[in-house]
Amino acid sequence: MSQSNLHIGIVGAGPSGCYVADAIGRKLPGAFIDIFDRLPTPFGLVRGGVAPDHQGTKNIARQFERTLGKDSVRFLGNIAIGRDISYEELKAAYDVLIITIGALEDRRLGIPGENLDAVYGSGQFVAWYNGIPDGRDLDPKLDGKSVAIIGNGNVALDIARLLGKTADELASSDLCAHARAVFEAACIEDIWLVGRRGPLEASFTTAELAEFGELSRVATLVDPVQLPQALPDGLSEEQKKLGEKNLEVLHGYAARGEQRERPVRIHFLFHAAPVAIRGETRAQELVLDHTRVEPGVAITGGKTFTIPADTVISAIGYRSTPFPGLPFDTARGIVANTQGRVEPGVYAAGWCKRGPQGVVPANRADALAVADLILADLAGHEPGRKPGGALIDTLLAERDARPVDFAGWQKINAAEVAAGQGRPREKLTRLEDLLAAATG
Ligand code: NAP
Repeated sequence: MSQSNLHIGIVGAGPSGCYVADAIGRKLPGAFIDIFDRLPTPFGLVRGGVAPDHQGTKNIARQFERTLGKDSVRFLGNIAIGRDISYEELKAAYDVLIITIGALEDRRLGIPGENLDAVYGSGQFVAWYNGIPDGRDLDPKLDGKSVAIIGNGNVALDIARLLGKTADELASSDLCAHARAVFEAACIEDIWLVGRRGPLEASFTTAELAEFGELSRVATLVDPVQLPQALPDGLSEEQKKLGEKNLEVLHGYAARGEQRERPVRIHFLFHAAPVAIRGETRAQELVLDHTRVEPGVAITGGKTFTIPADTVISAIGYRSTPFPGLPFDTARGIVANTQGRVEPGVYAAGWCKRGPQGVVPANRADALAVADLILADLAGHEPGRKPGGALIDTLLAERDARPVDFAGWQKINAAEVAAGQGRPREKLTRLEDLLAAATG
């Protein structure tokens, strides 16, 4: 069998899956590629994770559309591995299987009070406002005056920014109608952005940090005492560059004291490690411990203090969710792999391979690397002839599964864009509505 008619299966049609499909298509022209997703919609984080007011970032979906639209590529949406098809069946069907399932599950804080009402993980919260069907009914409580967001990454900034924006400022976003209603009814006055280390260790990026300066009703409050005047020795060039730029923005915020009277205050609180969430039945306050940073690590000193927190959102990173049979590294929350190799014929790429780090285009390099790895492994090996999508189609038909193909996605897309009425789109957020739109 020539490598040109290999059957390739990809599990997960997010950015990594799409980049991998593109890379394989280029490096193994003539390969047949099936790309599965548990949702009826492709593009993973681009649709369900990227902030709805960052439409520029979502433009990458156009490139992914071209990949999924190729004759050699089939999109099989609404197919969950472990429910509709097993991992073993996939391995029996495809010469090469690539796992690109991302990281959807929230990391746990592991502190008392985490299970109180009005405490959410960012994954849950973002899935809710972005209209992912299984997160749609979260109905988060945003009915108090204070929200504490734990974490100093870009996800924490996304959430704080969206909560800080006015309805007008969200008008050009694709924030879902159910979330807009909750945001508009909320009367939040204080949003705390809590970092367990200092501003130089924060992982958020400067462009995202600077966006707070443009929000009309938001005061950005930073205690200048928390901001170092100069960079310490020992930072890498990259850390220096990011640290300098972030510090400049934060010093600017610290100098804007006159904004205190604005209706929404965003407090940047550094060197504060979460210790407990307190409340009778729901969150009321967040207990924090002052920290100092010693080579990279936050050290607590037992000097605790509290901030009011009617809602707590932890934005501290994600874990992948394995399906039965998939080799999994439970400690790290990723697919067990050695530089992308999972087991013979099976590979992993993207966040499920290396952990939830890096912006969408960062997954391109990973995809090219996995494609090269596959090519190298195939060199000199004639893989056994496997049936590819034909086997999968038979199994899905026997099980009354309802796969959504690329044409089905295009119908969903058209229906959502048409419903947008001035917005980029109004997403369909119920599974049945998505499936109905797909069959048009
Ligand atoms: P992240 O950048 O890894 O940030 C996680 C934050 O949580 C860090 O500040 C971390 O602090 C903190 N943290 C972890 N465990 C904690 C604990 N137990 N208690 C308190 N704090 C804790 O992750 P993310 O914000 O989820 O973002 C994931 C990736 O997506 C990142 O690469 C991000 O840049 C990307 N992203 C990009 C955009 C954009 O470009 N606009 C938007 C969203 C996401 P330590 O550093 O001390 O561990």
